[in-house]
Amino acid sequence: MKVLICDPIANEGVEMMCRAGIEVDVKTGLAPEELERAIGDYDVIVVRSATKVRKPTIEAARNLKLIIRGGVGLDNIDVEYAQARGIEVMNTPAASTNAVAELTVGYLLALARRLPQATASLRAGKWEKKKFSGSEIIGKTLGLIGYGRIGWLVAKKALALGMEIIAYDPYVSDPKGLEMEFVSLEELLNRADYISLHLLLTEETRNLIDKPQFEMMKDGMCIINCARGGTINEDALYEAIRSGKVKGAALDVYAEEPAKNNKLFELDAVIGSPHIGAETVEAQHRVSVEVAEKVIEFHMSLRGTK
Ligand code: NAD
Repeated sequence: MKVLICDPIANEGVEMMCRAGIEVDVKTGLAPEELERAIGDYDVIVVRSATKVRKPTIEAARNLKLIIRGGVGLDNIDVEYAQARGIEVMNTPAASTNAVAELTVGYLLALARRLPQATASLRAGKWEKKKFSGSEIIGKTLGLIGYGRIGWLVAKKALALGMEIIAYDPYVSDPKGLEMEFVSLEELLNRADYISLHLLLTEETRNLIDKPQFEMMKDGMCIINCARGGTINEDALYEAIRSGKVKGAALDVYAEEPAKNNKLFELDAVIGSPHIGAETVEAQHRVSVEVAEKVIEFHMSLRGTK
């Protein structure tokens, strides 16, 4: 069986596949036409988020049986078309759960104490103790929008830090062992000191947090988005910060990425990162191992040795 790795994955996974007797080629950064020329030889392709697997690529894939997306989300793959042609599509949704949950907790504390702004002030040669008098997160209410894998783990970690947890998730009603409360979106917006989004971007969730939702929030609240850009309307967020409704915002994801000229970065209240939620050594290792395990299992099933 021949596997083409189109986006970088950690070495562990590549080595596991090779040890299992699978032929693996690593060709990253191919242009769409180059991928269309190359793909005909392969039974399996592995992508992360960079490579797009659209109709023309799938049409050129004579032998393709499996597409694996290392990570969450399948927005870069034309899943329906692939499946209609009998090609299986898989991903590794759990591999980055802890990395994103830890980043979210980091942002809770960074917002409460304005750590990035304090560092910038020190670098500018200042010593502004009064300006950086912060607040504590203990006893504060964290409102989670989306209570899936990551939302749940953030709740678990935030409970350990003494926060109260409320969550809005129209598709989940099981607290999964944690002391928390499910509420409506309106109640969450009214009650939360911190709001953190942990849901997918769909037509239903696009601009879920817009001007009317910001108006329902507590004055001086903070918001975190380590999920997907587009779930918060960035113009509405900009206005909500300017008006003082939102005291701080921490963003890992943006409506348009790479977000090099986002006007939100003009605002001192905004801290952020370039979509690094899953970028930890451990998560990258987990992704590559999970990809390899899935490829090896598929290889065994094709050979009928399972
Ligand atoms: P998940 O599927 O386990 O959880 C998503 C939850 O959102 C589900 O429980 C679902 O019921 C809920 N949901 C759906 N529609 C909703 C709505 N309208 N309102 C409220 N909740 C709704 O996914 P997950 O693994 O927890 O991932 C959550 C998000 O984090 C995803 O968008 C994922 O793409 C993102 N993510 C980001 C990074 C990063 O690098 N920043 C890395 C991994 C995952």
